[in-house]
Amino acid sequence: MGQLTVPKIDLHVHSTASDGLLSPSEVARSARELGLTTLALTDHDTTDGVAEAQAAGRQLGVEVIAGVEINSEGAHGDIHFLGYFVDPANAMLQEKLLDIRDARVGRAKGMLKKLAALGMPVAWERVLQIASDASSIARPHIARALLEAGHVASTQEAFDKYIDHDGPAYVNRLRLTPRETIDIVHEAGGLIVLAHPPRAGTIDLIPMLRALGLDGIEVYYPEHTPDEIAMLEKIAADRGLLMTGGSDFHGWDDGVHANLGDMVVPPECAERLRARAQRIA
Ligand code: AMP
Ligand code: MN
Ligand code: MN
Ligand code: MN
Repeated sequence: MGQLTVPKIDLHVHSTASDGLLSPSEVARSARELGLTTLALTDHDTTDGVAEAQAAGRQLGVEVIAGVEINSEGAHGDIHFLGYFVDPANAMLQEKLLDIRDARVGRAKGMLKKLAALGMPVAWERVLQIASDASSIARPHIARALLEAGHVASTQEAFDKYIDHDGPAYVNRLRLTPRETIDIVHEAGGLIVLAHPPRAGTIDLIPMLRALGLDGIEVYYPEHTPDEIAMLEKIAADRGLLMTGGSDFHGWDDGVHANLGDMVVPPECAERLRARAQRIA
């Protein structure tokens, strides 16, 4: 008896180009092994892993959508955005992403200073080594250095005690306005989606962001409750927003974070996203 198989897709995935543990081609290979048809690589503030993931995806028969996750931190708090079908060759996008990544270097050094003052020195060189394949230095790299130096018993403890948003060693990222973030993704031919609004506390901002050009919202996400998913589906329908979803996979095999393809995402999400991207191209 033939079983009906629904295509599996994952539109929120990180690699070693930012704070994930699998290389872009390993991500594509793992997607293939898990039976995914489509994935979007959405590394933080960089598209540097996209070409490798797409090359591997072509070999394996997995569609890899060029994506990026950009966080705008400012008057409205920390807003997480996802860009899809961006052109990685777009000069303005790359210039802006480079600014954001450059600011991450000074920010990470600032966090190390605070950690040293708290009695937990870690060498900047070691953080750089841990992040050696990454274009974008992020807190998980610092958490791994803290673990390695014996200052914490787990990377989670590093976040919980020191480097979470409200932690004593936290330093802000570069401030970007939501409008700037939306505009650079559009400028690069992409679509912009609000990432995990319940988790980021940004549900109330949707009407304002819609007016600025927001194209969609991330509805299907491991930490969203069924009620939240239903509410987001309704908001998307009422406001004419696209819906996306994914696991936010980082390769952390910690039993806490989701695995690749773990989030059930309706395949129409990718189809509608692709159709809209093609229409504006
Ligand atoms: P950054 O972009 O440098 O601020 O680092 C943010 C990344 O750290 C997120 O994308 C997650 O991968 C991870 N992260 C943030 N908050 C936590 C947390 N409370 N526990 C574990 N990981 C976290
Ligand atoms: Mn991350
Ligand atoms: Mn996020
Ligand atoms: Mn993410």
